[in-house]
Amino acid sequence: MDLDKVIRKVPDFPKPGILFYDVTSIFLEPTAFKYVVDTMLESYKDKQVDGVISIESRGFLLGSCFAYTNKVPLVLARKKGKLPGKTISQSYLLEYGSATLEIHEADLIPGKNWLIIDDLIATGGTLEAVSSMIETVGANVAGIFSIIGLPFLNYKEKIGKYRPKTLIEYNSEEC
Ligand code: AMP
Repeated sequence: MDLDKVIRKVPDFPKPGILFYDVTSIFLEPTAFKYVVDTMLESYKDKQVDGVISIESRGFLLGSCFAYTNKVPLVLARKKGKLPGKTISQSYLLEYGSATLEIHEADLIPGKNWLIIDDLIATGGTLEAVSSMIETVGANVAGIFSIIGLPFLNYKEKIGKYRPKTLIEYNSEEC
């Protein structure tokens, strides 16, 4: 499967100089969508994953596939101010700005192994923030899955210890 062919690239979005990798184009192609989900499921079939944490918003699409198939809980990491209950939160720097993510505190069960799922790893700041929330409540990071990785932004310095799995990597901000 040549995923590169089905990933839409949008130059200068959301800021000049950023090449935006839009994975929503994968979901338009049933064969590509199936490949991504099947590969994700296969990658963790022998690992102990007690639950999934998916990151707003594109991470939700894959996280729900994993949780539904493996019959494990799905927890949403959402942008600040969206969750109604008591939350834990973590702020972090992005490739293009800063952000805060929140998780319902009661959803994260201590001692369990959580797989984190997102669409793209750039600097790794988002996934480092979610990993930190998981560890703060005494739970474990079982792994990190993302469709795209941008290794030239050195995300492994932040999250390499969680063995992030990606399906395609890009080595510069070029189409
Ligand atoms: P980071 O925390 O720097 O690893 O950024 C990862 C998060 O920001 C992911 O949730 C991505 O959806 C989004 N993101 C960052 N850079 C890009 C990019 N070049 N194209 C698409 N999404 C991006």
